[in-house]
Amino acid sequence: MDVIVVGAGVFGAWTAWQLLRRGQRVLLLDAHGAAHSRASSGGESRLTRSIYGADAVYTKMAAESLADWRWLSARAGLPILHPAGILMYFQRQEPFAQASIATHRELGLPLHVVERAELARRWPQADWEGIEFGLHQPDYGVLMARRAVQTLVAEFVAAGGEYRVAAVTPPVAGASRLESVKTSAGDAGGEQFVFACGPWLPKLFPNLLGSRIFPTRQEVFFFATPRGDERFGPLQLPGWAEFSAGDIYYGIPDLEGRGFKIANDVHGPAFDPDTGERRASPEGEADVRRYLARRFPAIASQPLVETRVCQYENTANGDFLIDRHPDLANVWLVGGGSGHGFKHGPAVGRYAADLVAGVSGAVVEPRFSLASKGSEQRREVH
Ligand SMILES: Cc1cc2nc3c(=O)[nH]c(=O)nc-3n(C[C@H](O)[C@H](O)[C@H](O)COP(=O)(O)OP(=O)(O)OC[C@H]3O[C@@H](n4cnc5c(N)ncnc54)[C@H](O)[C@@H]3O)c2cc1C
Repeated sequence: MDVIVVGAGVFGAWTAWQLLRRGQRVLLLDAHGAAHSRASSGGESRLTRSIYGADAVYTKMAAESLADWRWLSARAGLPILHPAGILMYFQRQEPFAQASIATHRELGLPLHVVERAELARRWPQADWEGIEFGLHQPDYGVLMARRAVQTLVAEFVAAGGEYRVAAVTPPVAGASRLESVKTSAGDAGGEQFVFACGPWLPKLFPNLLGSRIFPTRQEVFFFATPRGDERFGPLQLPGWAEFSAGDIYYGIPDLEGRGFKIANDVHGPAFDPDTGERRASPEGEADVRRYLARRFPAIASQPLVETRVCQYENTANGDFLIDRHPDLANVWLVGGGSGHGFKHGPAVGRYAADLVAGVSGAVVEPRFSLASKGSEQRREVH
């Protein structure tokens, strides 16, 4: 193999796909299968937006990725991108909102400012009390996460990539290169190795990443919508997020009958992706019901139909980690999605594949470098 990619989440799958397109022979391995239920990419749905404050790097990556998501959606039998739109709304003129507007203006990308009266006219199913304005992106919306990754892996295999379910043993330190990885299905040799192992990266590289990637426990709730009421479906409600002084509640309309999704984006406690308890807490449910009572009162007393506990794999400030291993010259680390990575999967894959394949002009973006990764959590990217 030219490249062995370990981890078939959204980052690994797009990296493997992009490497294959660059003419590489690629083996993609995953311990439990693509976008399985404990993977960060294994959820039902993920928001996509290019609203990122002053972080133009992520605005550009989200915009670039949208075309790839449309392509994948067209290949799949069922929708992968639901273009329901995305609406971020604010109680006051947050610096994040002002910077987002400026960034979009500088890049020549569309972003619509919607004043409160207009919010109330267009989306009367929400209570806009206390909200000053929103930022709306009608072209963005929601990605069907598990379906997206599994569809891409099927495309990868159909195009000649090799994919296997196999668990990889952490590489032994000491050498300057990796010749092969030990897996539950035998040894696998390659020229280069990409470890896109999401929240498991600290387990594979404990000395290097044990204090640089912080998996946190995140709860997600799905509520039944009222009978015969389409106001909370994707044709009438966009994906949404309320951003207030760094605190975010976000939600997704009732897609494919799975319920109205809501979550609190504040980082939860430290979490082990293998053994962590995946039953949502009564406190978490009470918290999101309080939010619903204020903003979406018609949902606040509806039955809970599903819950999920997932993990964010945070870097210190929320910037991705995409860099070469400092000791093993043919090993690459791709991760640190930090609760916002899914939408960028296609751009991450393209960027990582250029580095690994040695495409001329490909250089490590300083913000994605290992050297920039601190060991104290201080979230800056939202
Ligand atoms: C609740 C929640 C909501 C989110 N909402 C959004 C959102 O709205 N928008 C957005 O853009 N992002 C969102 N994110 C973030 C996004 O989902 C993640 O950043 C992204 O999915 C990370 O993908 P990954 O490929 O790095 O990791 P994963 O998807 O976790 O993939 C890593 C893979 O590596 C495999 N692996 C690990 N160790 C080994 C081993 N030793 N051998 C073989 N395989 C191994 C695992 O089995 C796993 O499949 C959210 C995340 C969560 C948890």
